[in-house]
Amino acid sequence: MNFHEYQAKELFASYGIPVHAGKVARTPDEAVVAAQSLGGKMWVVKAQVHAGGRGKAGGVKLVRTLDDVRAETERMLSMKISTYQTGGLALPVDSVLIAEATDIESELYLSALIDRVNRCVTFMGSAAGGVDIEQVAATEPEKIVTVKVDNTAGFQAYQARQMGFGMGLSAKHVRQLTGIMSALYRLFTDKDLSLVEVNPLIIDGKDNLIALDAKINMDDNALFRHHDMAAMRDEAQEDPTEAAASRHGLNYITLDGNIACMVNGAGLAMATMDVVKLNGGEPANFLDVGGGTNAERVKEAFKIILSGEHVEAILVNIFGGIVRCDLIAQGIIAAVEEVGVSVPVVVRLAGTLVDEGRKLLAESGLAIISAADLNDAAQKAVAAANNSEVAQ
Ligand code: GDP
Ligand code: MN
Repeated sequence: MNFHEYQAKELFASYGIPVHAGKVARTPDEAVVAAQSLGGKMWVVKAQVHAGGRGKAGGVKLVRTLDDVRAETERMLSMKISTYQTGGLALPVDSVLIAEATDIESELYLSALIDRVNRCVTFMGSAAGGVDIEQVAATEPEKIVTVKVDNTAGFQAYQARQMGFGMGLSAKHVRQLTGIMSALYRLFTDKDLSLVEVNPLIIDGKDNLIALDAKINMDDNALFRHHDMAAMRDEAQEDPTEAAASRHGLNYITLDGNIACMVNGAGLAMATMDVVKLNGGEPANFLDVGGGTNAERVKEAFKIILSGEHVEAILVNIFGGIVRCDLIAQGIIAAVEEVGVSVPVVVRLAGTLVDEGRKLLAESGLAIISAADLNDAAQKAVAAANNSEVAQ
């Protein structure tokens, strides 16, 4: 799950990580009131969306008058922002952050993430902040300093010195960085985060380190034990299909191919996508309906995959280990009849009561293409998708 900058900054502040005073506003009036109560002579209006790269998309503006606070807020609230981080979605701007503007001496980069290769939390820092860090990593990797945190020992002050001096900071800034990194590490582990990114971490006009931007990502599987974090969810920023799927307990990710997959079990779903690709096809989604699925969830799953725009064939791959294939077949039939499926449906069933399941499908009178095994199913789905492309 992703969070807004203003939410991340509230968390930062509660952990003692320095941020500028700011207030979230949902209307131009609220924005003006926020700027007045913050005081000062210059403010920054920042569109709140679940993505970075807002600056270049017109979502971050410095203003010097209350009229401009109003005008910029009005403009941003009517925008939809799509950047290289929004994955093709255009995100609505439902709120803006009004913050004290600051002078910037330099922009640095600091992040912490789950490092799967080293099985720990790794910090990355660079003196080349403010810009796309992906670009720095690609062209000037020597400008990025990494520090791996031992899971048992936890974050140690010497690691902040390694990072800070590696980034070329002065002793004063390294001391400040030590406080920031140890607080970030506490936040990271307390809240089961998978990423925290401060880009830029700045040296401000008063020569202090401050988090000017804040982005955090949390592991969805830990939401059950962080009700405070779950309450910050903003579904308007999410892919609508993925949000609908999560309401039904389905693990669904939109992809850009044309073969929709409905599979029980995450491992089998990954294998199915691999076999589709091996046969020259492109999956339209990842969907795991769960090991112990039932007819009702199969129906919901059909509705969800059919809402994808590019779906030209559906591949159902169910292994009846916990579930019975006859019940799944009934679910498929009910779903195809009720939802009005207009694209070819290829079904591969295996496992408990598979013969009964296949019989039900064969006798249903629906145009369901039965497959003998996974490879056969993938071939038939790829062929069906290609045919429907030709037919259009
Ligand atoms: P992003 O583009 O979505 O990553 O948004 P950021 O919060 O990182 O802001 C983008 C850029 O706007 C920063 O890198 C700064 O250069 C600039 N910026 C943001 N806030 C301020 C501010 O208070 N003062 C000044 N001078 N520049 C700012
Ligand atoms: Mn940024």
